[in-house]
Amino acid sequence: MTAPSAYDVVVIGGGVTGAGVARDLSLRGLSVLLLEKGDWGAGTSGASSWMIHGGPRYLEYDWDTTRLSCIDAGHIVTIARNLVYRVVFIIPVLPHDRNNIERMETAMEVYDRFQPLKKAHPHRRLTGDEARQAEPGLSPDVIAAVTMEEWGVDPHRLVYANVEDAVAHGARALNHTRVTELIRDGGKVIGVRYRTPDGAFSEARARVVVNATGPWSPEVGAMAGVDIELRRAKGIHIVYPHRISNFSISAESIDGRDLLMVSHAGFTLLGTTDDDFYGDLDSVEVLDDEVDYLLQGFERVFPAIRSYRPVRTTTGVRPTLFKWRRYEDELSRRYEVIDHSPRGADGLITIAGGKLSMYRLMAEETSDAVCRKLGLQGESTTASRPLPGNESDPEPVAALAARCDVPALAVLKLQSRHGSNAEKVLDEGHTSRILCRCEPVTEAELVYAARHEQVRTLADAFRRVGVAAGPCAGAACILRASEVVGRELGWSATQRLDAAREFVRGAWLGRAPVLGHTGWAQEELTQGAMRGLMASDGAR
Ligand SMILES: Cc1cc2nc3c(=O)[nH]c(=O)nc-3n(C[C@H](O)[C@H](O)[C@H](O)COP(=O)(O)OP(=O)(O)OC[C@H]3O[C@@H](n4cnc5c(N)ncnc54)[C@H](O)[C@@H]3O)c2cc1C
Repeated sequence: MTAPSAYDVVVIGGGVTGAGVARDLSLRGLSVLLLEKGDWGAGTSGASSWMIHGGPRYLEYDWDTTRLSCIDAGHIVTIARNLVYRVVFIIPVLPHDRNNIERMETAMEVYDRFQPLKKAHPHRRLTGDEARQAEPGLSPDVIAAVTMEEWGVDPHRLVYANVEDAVAHGARALNHTRVTELIRDGGKVIGVRYRTPDGAFSEARARVVVNATGPWSPEVGAMAGVDIELRRAKGIHIVYPHRISNFSISAESIDGRDLLMVSHAGFTLLGTTDDDFYGDLDSVEVLDDEVDYLLQGFERVFPAIRSYRPVRTTTGVRPTLFKWRRYEDELSRRYEVIDHSPRGADGLITIAGGKLSMYRLMAEETSDAVCRKLGLQGESTTASRPLPGNESDPEPVAALAARCDVPALAVLKLQSRHGSNAEKVLDEGHTSRILCRCEPVTEAELVYAARHEQVRTLADAFRRVGVAAGPCAGAACILRASEVVGRELGWSATQRLDAAREFVRGAWLGRAPVLGHTGWAQEELTQGAMRGLMASDGAR
């Protein structure tokens, strides 16, 4: 074990909240260590619906959360322009729905008051025919509809942009590093003990430790002997590797809950469930029942849904604040900053609950609490200070594509991840080769990610640059990706093959719940081809 290093603050948890806290505190001039046991954004943040939204349904029972979310969403879309895009919903009304068109429109009129806070447009009311003209996939039973505008975001990149900026302002940030213990001096928490990726143990001392571990926060609280009560709720999504509709669409499930089909830039997320979760947070499975529940809800408004082939599923657990006796999806998305000193754990602060859409505000309030504790005056600047890649306008796509000899679509995707830093990224790899054709991803971007963005595994590469995210799910590119990452990180030939196998196995686990009859046959074929390729590579 190496000698402990000392920081003002250790932040545990590299989801959007922890990354936001690390950024905020570093910008205020504090020394920060951020520790994440997996990869940046690989917990709940990455498993979200990828939306920066206000949540109109909270208006019924939690007006303040909608208002705060909308205000903070307005800040987030300003500081992270390259990462966000408009997502326009059609909310169809069918004859026996819970809400008729008048009720639905009234709700939207109320929500319209909040829309300017997040730079979104007011709703429009559509007849059934108008709705079908805009979205031909809608059922003939749709009698009317309203529109609603939200924002989409790549949460993996949003988390990483916060980490990157924290590091640029002096923070140390380590992924694949698990906190195993809180170090205590009597009742006071004075640091953390952690395990690094190579299995070694280390310690860091801190004046304050922030527990930003989302659904894991009760486990980390227990390390200091404090109870943190959450009502953890699992949600799943079905992922289609392309857009299957012109607009995003909402639907009602059999038990009357709201479901969403979200048309993101180049893929579609169908979700989500919201069920009390009592299991192992490190191995959350998607069940066939959950997939059927979503498909049943959507088939009613979008009859062709079962004819599209999903590429995978995602699942995560919401860190919802505890409340007794309500349906899971009606629980408040409020958050709480908890200073544990009155409960015998001075030096430990937990941020619990909330949403991705107001992570910045949650981080600001947590950082305020840290500063109060340390007797510091620093003010948050994150509401207006651009995240990396947003300090200036990006170069026009066509010009950058021509200059770097890269297809315009690849440049567009690159800029969506790196904003005005796209050219710097392209320069890094000294190659214009396209590595993943489905997306498309350039080899240069993967080289950059391996060198500068803490990519340690191919799953990290998937999150950082979208490699293997498209229809082939890696069948056509994962071996190439492994070569590139392996070359940068000094992997042996065996390690490169092992990394590719590991990725394929992980991808398979996420895909199994959505393989229909023909899907299984196709999967067998793909897996067989992959095994063959790997065997011939290994034989070389
Ligand atoms: C299905 C679903 C859909 C959602 N959709 C949306 C949406 O569209 N918009 C929205 O605003 N909100 C949405 N939410 C809610 C939102 O995703 C979460 O509120 C938010 O992402 C939580 O972020 P977090 O950083 O607090 O937690 P997490 O993202 O889970 O981060 C916590 C991190 O702590 C790490 N960690 C845990 N223990 C340790 C340890 N001992 N040492 C080191 N690290 C540790 C974990 O690995 C994890 O990465 C959704 C949630 C779900 C489940």
